[in-house]
Amino acid sequence: MNDFKNIKSLTLDELKTWLKSVGEKPFRAEQVQNWLFCNQVQSVEEMVNISPSLQAKLSEAFQIHSFKEISRDESVDGTIKWLFQTHDNHYIETVMIPKSKRFSVCVSTQIGCAMKCTFCRTAKMGFIRNLEAGEILEEIIRVNWYLKEAKILNNEGNQAEVTNIIFMGMGEPLNNLENVHRTCCTLHNQKLFNMGRKRMTISTSGIVPKIKELVDRNTPCCLAVSLNSTSNEQRSAVMPVNRIWPIEALLEATDEYTRRTDNHVTFEFVLIKGLTCTKEAAKELIRICAPRRCKVNAIALNDGDDPNLQAPSAEEIDRFLEIVRAADVQITMRNPRGRDILAACGQLAYKQGTVESC
Ligand code: SF4
Repeated sequence: MNDFKNIKSLTLDELKTWLKSVGEKPFRAEQVQNWLFCNQVQSVEEMVNISPSLQAKLSEAFQIHSFKEISRDESVDGTIKWLFQTHDNHYIETVMIPKSKRFSVCVSTQIGCAMKCTFCRTAKMGFIRNLEAGEILEEIIRVNWYLKEAKILNNEGNQAEVTNIIFMGMGEPLNNLENVHRTCCTLHNQKLFNMGRKRMTISTSGIVPKIKELVDRNTPCCLAVSLNSTSNEQRSAVMPVNRIWPIEALLEATDEYTRRTDNHVTFEFVLIKGLTCTKEAAKELIRICAPRRCKVNAIALNDGDDPNLQAPSAEEIDRFLEIVRAADVQITMRNPRGRDILAACGQLAYKQGTVESC
């Protein structure tokens, strides 16, 4: 379907331009976006204050939704992973992680990924294409549909809704910055999702020029960076991006981000047995983090396909955390969620040609 047009990808101005081009009043754009993003309707017919003739024009020109739900897997810890088929027959995964008051959604931003991180299953798919803003927004809307259909309540006893977005699913978000920026702006818009800047986090493997572009664009979001190793040699071995932008260049970019946005950066750090979960690595992490306004979010490696990389033992993790905390570096150990349904960090991937997660 080459003429596929996702209406949720359009900005308000683009929608106004289209309305004028089909002889309609531009103010209808606000109404249409209200139905799409506030009411999160499932069909054009539900837009009851829109005339039948405009409804027909909208249906002819656009698709309101672009995904087909292929499967939904629920973990014993409440994490849910969706597999969606896109309009051009590719597959992406979206994960919802419920935790007390929060309903966080980890969204995919690309189909596959080009970054080739060795610990990541998505990397094995290679890069297929970027997701449009409308597709990323649909991931979130579909989770809201589920929460509503399942009558899931939040802590206050009200209908639960997605509260936080993490751009950490399949793909490198900064390689799709235009669409990720549009998505964040729509989510941040007070008249639409009204989601605060602090509730959206873009996680990057470390594409230095794009971190600077993110600051220039003033994209409403927080920044997390997958640091994962403190030595260039080790980082380059697991994250080829480091061969282009080594740790020093990355830290220069994150320092600039902190200076210009007045926000701290979160460093994601995967603990790998004998590699990044050692006494030496802990000391190096302190050298990097102690002088900076940052937080470290550590997670133990998921045992994956690579027999050369293993998760550390609980004792090794405790030793590592103890050293880092003794230096007053803020470090939290993230509990892996959804491991049993392959929804944890680095586990998202889809085998093209089947409908099974690998
Ligand atoms: S970890 Fe992220 S950036 Fe690296 S290959 Fe996987 S999806 Fe891409």
